[in-house]
Amino acid sequence: MRARLHQIICVAALMIASGAEARVPVTKLERVEFLGRDYVRLRDWARSNSFSFAWVAHGEVVRVNAGSVTLVFRADSRAVEVNGIKVWLSYPVAVRGANAYVALVDMQTSIEPVVFARKNSRLISVVALDPGHGGKDKGYHKGSVEEKKYTLLLARELRSQLERAGFSVVLTRDSDVRVALADRPAVAKRRGAHLFVSLHFNSTSVGSDTVRGAEVYCLTPPGGRSTSARVGVADTHPGSRFNDESVLLAFCIQRALVKEAGLEDRGVRRAQFEVLRAAAMPAVLVEAGFMSHPDEGAKIRDSAYRRELARAITSGLIEYKRTVESANYRDR
Ligand SMILES: [Zn+2]
Repeated sequence: MRARLHQIICVAALMIASGAEARVPVTKLERVEFLGRDYVRLRDWARSNSFSFAWVAHGEVVRVNAGSVTLVFRADSRAVEVNGIKVWLSYPVAVRGANAYVALVDMQTSIEPVVFARKNSRLISVVALDPGHGGKDKGYHKGSVEEKKYTLLLARELRSQLERAGFSVVLTRDSDVRVALADRPAVAKRRGAHLFVSLHFNSTSVGSDTVRGAEVYCLTPPGGRSTSARVGVADTHPGSRFNDESVLLAFCIQRALVKEAGLEDRGVRRAQFEVLRAAAMPAVLVEAGFMSHPDEGAKIRDSAYRRELARAITSGLIEYKRTVESANYRDR
């Protein structure tokens, strides 16, 4: 019940923001070039959308707010907080004097699609779940513990919860078989899915005792940069045309994993994973915690905990569906 109230508040927040009829398109704002890239003044963007703009720590942290939508930007950082959830941008926020600047591509592909969700007439009833790895490809493994087993168990749990919530679900694999990466989005398309959700668990060899938490990936936008990349700019892929829906879906799932299942927030991230590049529908890849972390790894192997993860992901999908069905800002 509490979770439901949360969702309604969140949707309402997005709608309040999207009701700003007189807003100026970000492409019409004055541009400033930093390191060969177009940036816009955050203060101009805030004003044009009737958001307040205030330095929390002068020259370091700035807060932009309207209704119950709050964005927090930090100087030289690629991470922005959207209602308390971390979203990784392609380029760092620049600060010069009393002004903060955000890359135009980040405004267009990461911030506006989440804050000003657009109404979408596309049907959302069939969800493709893609349990990572399978067969010879074990994913993370240590001793007899193999990621491929737990991604499938999570997918099956999630399938039953999504079906109870009224969705139809297709799986790209429902046994311990290897499915080529390129075939996974193809299976989803062939079976009429409207959303693609790949399920993985994370691992690290450095700092495995401390690194834990959730990450949800969507495809790096054209002209943007993957979260782990220092250089290089992404090309356009078939999945690129679903950027706005994919980043909103990633945000809704990340938010639910953090706020409802209590995972540490490692942010909505960007990568050019093959399953995301080839997707013919909005697509995300969920890393639902670190198997390499002693405590989080033990929880992932526990069915009651996986049920909680599935509950959060279901709640994120429901929130996404409600948001795109009820958002009222159309003419961008
Ligand atoms: Zn994996």
